[in-house]
Amino acid sequence: TRSIRPLVAGNWKMNGLKADLAVATEVAKGYAPELKGKVDLAICPPASLLFMASAALIGSRIATGGQDCSAQGSGAFTGEVSAAMLTDAGATYAIVGHSERRTLHGETNAIVKAKAEAAQKELLVPIVCVGETREEREAGKALAIVRRQIRGSVPDGASAATLVVAYEPVWAIGTGLTPTAQDVAEMHAAIRAELGKLLGKAAAAGVRLLYGGSVKPSNAAELMNVANVDGALVGGASLKAEEFLAIAKAC
Ligand code: PEP
Repeated sequence: TRSIRPLVAGNWKMNGLKADLAVATEVAKGYAPELKGKVDLAICPPASLLFMASAALIGSRIATGGQDCSAQGSGAFTGEVSAAMLTDAGATYAIVGHSERRTLHGETNAIVKAKAEAAQKELLVPIVCVGETREEREAGKALAIVRRQIRGSVPDGASAATLVVAYEPVWAIGTGLTPTAQDVAEMHAAIRAELGKLLGKAAAAGVRLLYGGSVKPSNAAELMNVANVDGALVGGASLKAEEFLAIAKAC
């Protein structure tokens, strides 16, 4: 039995047109009472679909989230989406610091922290993503890198109710590769310990630590049963309702 209610969040990335909201409604249909009693679900569609997805999921107890949010409140920031806009569109969560943002958009730990704080200011729960590259893992630096990301990206004063952390090894995202259960256990324990130093042990003990990176129905049970794994952040497999639901059931 778990002390923390797990969360399975789907990151649709830059995928999804109006017609694909059918995936969200199919997930809602499959979110049976016994599953509702055990695991929280969230869907993070592209910003263009967020409002409609939130509306389609009213009454389903499935939350929605943005895939990023601006560190700025409002103003002359063409193309950015603010935390208040996400809240206004019905979101509960905002993914921040996804490796694709860190790598392709040059987001530093300081930027990720500012985004997480902006999200919290609007009562969104940031899902702060961390994770090492393949080179960093091979060099034996994975734990050090991720600890540094946690120290640099997690807002001060966060608690179980205001923060989710996702460990996503960069080399596992979209590749079909996953770390061993032992490596995940080691990393999640290290993240919990680092959060304890930052937030205090009691607060850190309740923060949900998601694993992300090539989670699919066939490996979900093994990954979700690792100590300190409190759910999953799911990319590719979240685009198919039955796969997403199968992962949720594996919690
Ligand atoms: C992600 O990008 O958050 C992710 C986990 O992707 P995938 O499941 O496709 O590896």
